[in-house]
Amino acid sequence: MELIKNLNKNFKIIIRDIEIISNKNITIIAGPCAIENEKYLFEIAKFLKKCGIKILRGGAFKPRTSPYDFQGLGIDGLKLLKDIACEFNFITVTEILDPRDIEYICEYCDILQIGTRNMFNYSLLKEVGKAKKPVILKRGWCATIKEFLLAAEYIAIEGNYNIILCERGIRTFESETRNTLDLSSIPVIKSYTNLPIIVDPSHGTGKREYVIPMSMASIAAGADGIMIEIHPNPEKALSDGKQSLKFEDFKKLLEKIYKISNVLNKEIKK
Ligand code: PEP
Ligand code: MN
Repeated sequence: MELIKNLNKNFKIIIRDIEIISNKNITIIAGPCAIENEKYLFEIAKFLKKCGIKILRGGAFKPRTSPYDFQGLGIDGLKLLKDIACEFNFITVTEILDPRDIEYICEYCDILQIGTRNMFNYSLLKEVGKAKKPVILKRGWCATIKEFLLAAEYIAIEGNYNIILCERGIRTFESETRNTLDLSSIPVIKSYTNLPIIVDPSHGTGKREYVIPMSMASIAAGADGIMIEIHPNPEKALSDGKQSLKFEDFKKLLEKIYKISNVLNKEIKK
């Protein structure tokens, strides 16, 4: 972990007009699990803009456990994401599944997400490293913290330090939650690297009602931000509806995060 160990305490990632500064700012990323159609994406974007959020997430290529589940809109989804981002001036995040897609995903989107299933996909990590685009690297559901950090090192070795780590829970024997959200990874990761670490409590818990408390806990434990799934009509969502916040829940979440950030003397970069 030579490379990611030697970064300043306030290591900074600049993406157009936003700055993600480790140990200083709180970054809030939100959006649907999957881009489903123009109407929903527009509603979500309009709502998030009103809340002051600057980074919009949305999957166009969905890595689903069952091949029969909705796989995402693919390139059509990317086009919708780009159009909405231009209209509302959002920075965007989308997941990349296949190294062959890098070039054109980079044209449509600002931040590449490597999902939990691909954290160990070393050829994808290398390609994303070469692309020099900002990356959200999610922890593999069966990865130790060291393996997670070494995956980030794969990207850094190619000259790309624009890496945002994302804790999203690991698989354990516990079945009340979809994953076990390992918040102890935050101080451990902070002891090794100053790359920013954000938390995804949506996948981390799998249940909407636990997203707010675990978001608060994440920030209190030192996370540099959170990534939250929201949906205008979660009951009808084509993926991850159970863990997606309704708009009114998201507003409540923001209020609580403001309070905690104040106490910690951290600035919110929505
Ligand atoms: C997602 O962010 O929608 C996603 C699929 O996440 P993960 O890779 O953590 O399951
Ligand atoms: Mn999801």
